[in-house]
Amino acid sequence: MTLLRDQYLAEIGIPVWRARGTAAISPPASPELAIEATTALAGAAQASDAWSELQAKVRACTLCGLHRGRTQTVFGVGRRDASLFVIGEAPGADEDRQGEPFVGRAGQLLNAMLRSIGLPRAEVYIANILKCRPPNNRDPEPSEQASCTPYLSQQIELVQPRVLLAVGRIAAQWLLQTDAPIGRIRGRVVSYGPRNTPLVVTYHPAYLLRSPLEKAKAWTDLCMVKELLGRSS
Ligand code: URA
Repeated sequence: MTLLRDQYLAEIGIPVWRARGTAAISPPASPELAIEATTALAGAAQASDAWSELQAKVRACTLCGLHRGRTQTVFGVGRRDASLFVIGEAPGADEDRQGEPFVGRAGQLLNAMLRSIGLPRAEVYIANILKCRPPNNRDPEPSEQASCTPYLSQQIELVQPRVLLAVGRIAAQWLLQTDAPIGRIRGRVVSYGPRNTPLVVTYHPAYLLRSPLEKAKAWTDLCMVKELLGRSS
């Protein structure tokens, strides 16, 4: 706890004094700053508990039949304070093996797409509609989505990103609760959830690998993301 507090104080520019041979102590900060720091620390600790709890729930989840075929669950990866939250469909074979979303060929392309708008993968948060791999990479079934998406909703609520990027039809249709084809929902900014978070929909990188001519449209979608992030920073 002391270490965490020292780190936090150092980050917000309050030097930590250490008397020789004793544990670190902070300087007599103003009461307002001390209260602010304590409140922020308590908030961070609460969020960290919420993440651990959610991760444990997902790891143990047996709500749908997909748990029987998984090597492991694929929770999500990235910064918990990311400005951009990327949502894909479901783990494939590589993700099931490694426990991380988008690590296969589609993942390489996703990384390149993010880099093209100046965002290294490590800067964003990435998760899927489903946390377990569907057999033979079939589309997620509605009942599987219904069981699994409360986890994703909680992840979005914890991260509170400034912008959401849905890659592919499955993610887009769930976020917008629509049956509309992806061609009709991409290409403009829509919004998601109680916070009206700006949402951009684009093609799934696996589809772009098969249909490279569509990359031009994906690029215009990515430019929208960049513009939104620039606007709200
Ligand atoms: N496709 C997805 O939608 N998600 C992954 O994690 C990998 C491939």
